[in-house]
Amino acid sequence: MPATGKFMKSLADRDDFTITFELVPGRGSRGGVYRRALEFAEAAIADGRLRAVSITENAGGHPAASPEVMGTEIKAMGLDVIVHLSCKDRNRNQMESQLFSWDRIGLHNLLVIAGDYPQRGYRGHPKPVFDLDTVQALDMISRLNCQQGVDRRNPIVRDIAPTSFVKGVAVSPFKMSEPELMGQYWKLHAKARAGADYVITQVGYDPRKFHELLLFMEETGLRLPVLGNVFVPTMKVAEMMYRKQIPGCVIPEGLFRRMRDESRAPDRGRAARLERGAMLLAVLKGMGYAGAHIGGPGVTFADVAAMLDRAETLLPAWRDLIPELSSWPRAAFYYFRADSETNLNLPDRSGVQARPRRALLQRVSGLAHRLFFDRSRPGGRLFARFCLAVENAGFANLLNRFEYLLKRILYGCQHCGDCTLGENGFLCVQRGCAKGMLNGPCGGSRDGFCEVFPGEKRCVYVRMYERMGADEFARRVSGLFIAPRDWSLDRTSSWLSFFKGRDHHNLRK
Ligand code: SF4
Repeated sequence: MPATGKFMKSLADRDDFTITFELVPGRGSRGGVYRRALEFAEAAIADGRLRAVSITENAGGHPAASPEVMGTEIKAMGLDVIVHLSCKDRNRNQMESQLFSWDRIGLHNLLVIAGDYPQRGYRGHPKPVFDLDTVQALDMISRLNCQQGVDRRNPIVRDIAPTSFVKGVAVSPFKMSEPELMGQYWKLHAKARAGADYVITQVGYDPRKFHELLLFMEETGLRLPVLGNVFVPTMKVAEMMYRKQIPGCVIPEGLFRRMRDESRAPDRGRAARLERGAMLLAVLKGMGYAGAHIGGPGVTFADVAAMLDRAETLLPAWRDLIPELSSWPRAAFYYFRADSETNLNLPDRSGVQARPRRALLQRVSGLAHRLFFDRSRPGGRLFARFCLAVENAGFANLLNRFEYLLKRILYGCQHCGDCTLGENGFLCVQRGCAKGMLNGPCGGSRDGFCEVFPGEKRCVYVRMYERMGADEFARRVSGLFIAPRDWSLDRTSSWLSFFKGRDHHNLRK
């Protein structure tokens, strides 16, 4: 972890429970939201227990003041800052440019996320960018950090000075189904391989799920500090989460009913929600989390300080709080078996689906792929010679059209010219994923459906998991890095790109 500062020192110190808080700059540059954020920082500095504030970037997909402006102001006040870097609104070049600027002004702590799908802005919906996915963005930042340059084949970027970013990532253990959960966990491995330095969990409220993540990381040898998310919602936000209107954030039925009952109190349930936050803080600390990431609309620093004080008094009996906090649906999938004594997990697996379910088309496609695209075999060498001969004879366009037509009919090809069907169980991610994620799912799926098309279109990574089975999916998502799509290949023949060494297969490292 290259950067210094209180936040990183705290994360590196096993005895320090790192507390951070999430600030959300609103739309506009001068309103009460902005003022309250600065007041929050001032109070936090005076108190001294908060190690950093994280500042969101266009949270919820809505336009807002960019995090570096508020971040610079707060950093100048003396508090460490984590800026969110999301993939949704800018392409790789703009991202790199942004990173150089942040490096220059000393904003080195990042939280690298895919980001919510962009929502309505000026006169309508904006163009979603997602040029890089999270794993690719992490890879790019890691390369910038170690002076490798972002593209080893491009001499222009050979001599850039190294940056010193610390890269945080998100993960959600709060998924109900096996494919969604395992997608999150194996993608966390991919993020670690690409250079993640620390982890913050998604919003959720189940102690056993929090525990499962730590156990999974331990079992699979993933050693990164993890901050558990302690989100204190208003009743309105809780209702939106319950009604599945906030991608990736879940409030189960039992907890929502309880919150609704509590909201009949004169303070509309605020004290009860803060108390639940304090209980969760105590449980996370007792369980062995490296820290907690607190957030919530309208939560003041006085609330945070009160929660921290209360959590300290609750800590000695943290195990007794677990039944009270447990409200996760019984039918939800857990990676480990339940421990009825502690209401957490035993270290034994619960039984992950092992067998792939391939239809005839995928079997035939797999066979054809091995036959025609493996150059160590005669079929591959012959097909390569054929494609290159067609191009040399001036019929590249004809080959391109034939390839597109065939793959359009069979797989709904989007003609990207940089084909990943072979790696992805013959599912076209360009077609199947609204964010074009090439290295594992985003955190937004719900009930197996894509966050952008809830109830209509299943998440492509859920389909991939079912098709590949648990083991192949784990190898694919955790162990195989797919470089970002090369847009100079758009609408060209991917067969020619492959055989001429121009596609992502040649950028494995
Ligand atoms: S298909 Fe899956 S990974 Fe892609 S945007 Fe939808 S939920 Fe996210």
